[in-house]
Amino acid sequence: MDIINTISDFRKKRKSINLQGIRFGFVPTMGALHEGHASLVKRSVAENDYTVVSIFVNPTQFGPNEDLSTYPRTLEADAKLVENIGADLVFAPSADDMYPAGTGHFTFGIKELDRKLCGASREGHFNGVVQVVSMLFHIVEPTHAYFGLKDYQQCLIIRHMVKEMHFPLEIVPCPIVRESDGLAMSSRNVYLAPEERKQALFLHTSLQKVKEGVRTGMLKTPREAKELVAKELEHFPLASLDYLEIYHHQDLREISSLATDFHPHAFMAAYLGRTRLIDNMPLF
Ligand code: AMP
Repeated sequence: MDIINTISDFRKKRKSINLQGIRFGFVPTMGALHEGHASLVKRSVAENDYTVVSIFVNPTQFGPNEDLSTYPRTLEADAKLVENIGADLVFAPSADDMYPAGTGHFTFGIKELDRKLCGASREGHFNGVVQVVSMLFHIVEPTHAYFGLKDYQQCLIIRHMVKEMHFPLEIVPCPIVRESDGLAMSSRNVYLAPEERKQALFLHTSLQKVKEGVRTGMLKTPREAKELVAKELEHFPLASLDYLEIYHHQDLREISSLATDFHPHAFMAAYLGRTRLIDNMPLF
């Protein structure tokens, strides 16, 4: 497996591969890889002739008070992991190479979709995501790109970007991979102290209770679901809720009922100490 650290070397490499008619898979990541990332890489390797995994901790998607400087960086272990799965190339550029003129010159305007959920809590986050993913698509030029549904809102925004900016590629959304107790895998889980790790189950437990309430007909409106989660929070003193929202699964529009034909999808973010975790679940 090749590891390439510059855009110019990547482009040379890409030219040297005979791309005629091949399926070219791409998995963009920020590294500190776990089984969630591995599931995307496995799927890409299974479905494509060639798979590139990028590892780049993108500065423009972090807010000023977020964890850019402490974000875990484990390039060597990451490279081994994806090599064992069968990826063909790791692309790990530097920030200077990606942003030769600094990061402040272009921003992307996203309408509506980033006003809610993580977009509302993390101002500018999705602008940074759209910026880096579009740059990576221009450099890598994949035919298929793999994204995890753990970042559901991100998947929706990237799908719109691909459609509206005419990127000639397909987005492949992949299911959330969880720890055995239900916690969604995340590179940020390593920040959790042992007691925080236990109470991080607040997210999954709450979402499951909401789902069960919808299934049995006990919960009929988003408001009732929010009340249930507020009660649940009392059992998890180390957790604080950033948001719990239930929206239509396709475009995040408000819905008045949790009935199946409203296609309700629950979204949640919570802090355990200083660590912010997200999760989501379809309710229909
Ligand atoms: P990140 O390194 O956090 O930027 O994530 C890179 C990709 O891996 C994104 O498409 C994420 O949605 C995906 N991903 C992260 N965690 C998980 C998980 N637990 N299950 C499925 N996909 C995931």
